[in-house]
Amino acid sequence: MAVGLVYHPVYLEHDTGHHPERASRLVEIKAALERDGLWPRLHHLSPRPATEPELLEAHSQEHIRWVKSQAQQGGGWVDMDTILSAGSYQAALYAAGGAIVAAEAVLKGDVSQALALVRPPGHHATRDQAMGFCLINNMAVAIHALLAGGTAQRIFIFDFDAHHGNGTEAAFYSDPRVFFFSMHQHPLYPGTGHADHMGDGEGRGTTINVPLPPECGDEEFRQVCGLMAQAVRRFRPDIILVSAGYDGHWLDGISQLQLSVSGYAQTAETIRGVAGEVCGGKAVFLLEGGYHAAALSTSVVATCRVLLGEEWVDLLGPPMPYSPPDISPLLHGLRHIHELDEAEGS
Ligand SMILES: [Zn+2]
Repeated sequence: MAVGLVYHPVYLEHDTGHHPERASRLVEIKAALERDGLWPRLHHLSPRPATEPELLEAHSQEHIRWVKSQAQQGGGWVDMDTILSAGSYQAALYAAGGAIVAAEAVLKGDVSQALALVRPPGHHATRDQAMGFCLINNMAVAIHALLAGGTAQRIFIFDFDAHHGNGTEAAFYSDPRVFFFSMHQHPLYPGTGHADHMGDGEGRGTTINVPLPPECGDEEFRQVCGLMAQAVRRFRPDIILVSAGYDGHWLDGISQLQLSVSGYAQTAETIRGVAGEVCGGKAVFLLEGGYHAAALSTSVVATCRVLLGEEWVDLLGPPMPYSPPDISPLLHGLRHIHELDEAEGS
């Protein structure tokens, strides 16, 4: 079956100037997909703007009004690292709506998996705050829409962006229908995502945070993916929604992770494999971070090839030799508190 792709020129209208999260990120990805011959082979899904009721499931009315009015006034800096332009509100509506369209197309069986190349990104945005380059939490809006529409009852989020998805975690921290699994560098912005934060109330146990020390690379990601796959098998979701951030690549200066394109492709293979076992292969990759043009675009191309079941190449190669930390005590501790079998995920 075809692999879906969400893209729209409106995403370039969120004009951040020379900010790391800039419109050229998507231009580079599109060019790389075209060069590789993938662009015409993907099933293009047209995004729509998220509606106000959809936004209000994930955000306060004050927040939505504020983003809209800031954009109407021409935009400006929100905090030290988040900026809006006149076109940002419209882009954000289509980013959240694009996430809904991608997930619905997969759940309906129109496409096997989908990749949503949206911006602004979303995983840091909280119910009432824009932060960390994010205005509206695309993932949270999409999940509320799927649950409300009855197209999915159980959803597994896998956030492999280098930063912790604090906004997404908070949105579903006490919701037993939504599992949030994040691996992220720690310490790093925004400073959340500790290993003992595992959900609350009825949602206790449906959050797993894997705070990775700097210098973790492909092998450490492979080990964490083993834990993720175990959690997916136990939770048995209807779909896996991925917050796909490629800012852990060794060329990306925003984190100190040492991932390569191969590591990202292997991560995609694990997701595709476990989705195939548990939920008919249903998975959506929703773009979050990734700020080195070549690393980002090459990783997205490799991800697409994995979803199509094709060979991929790592044109950028591995990082310089480095000394990765031993994360086995961290993984052992997480398996212990989440009662996951030690042998299964290795
Ligand atoms: Zn990030």
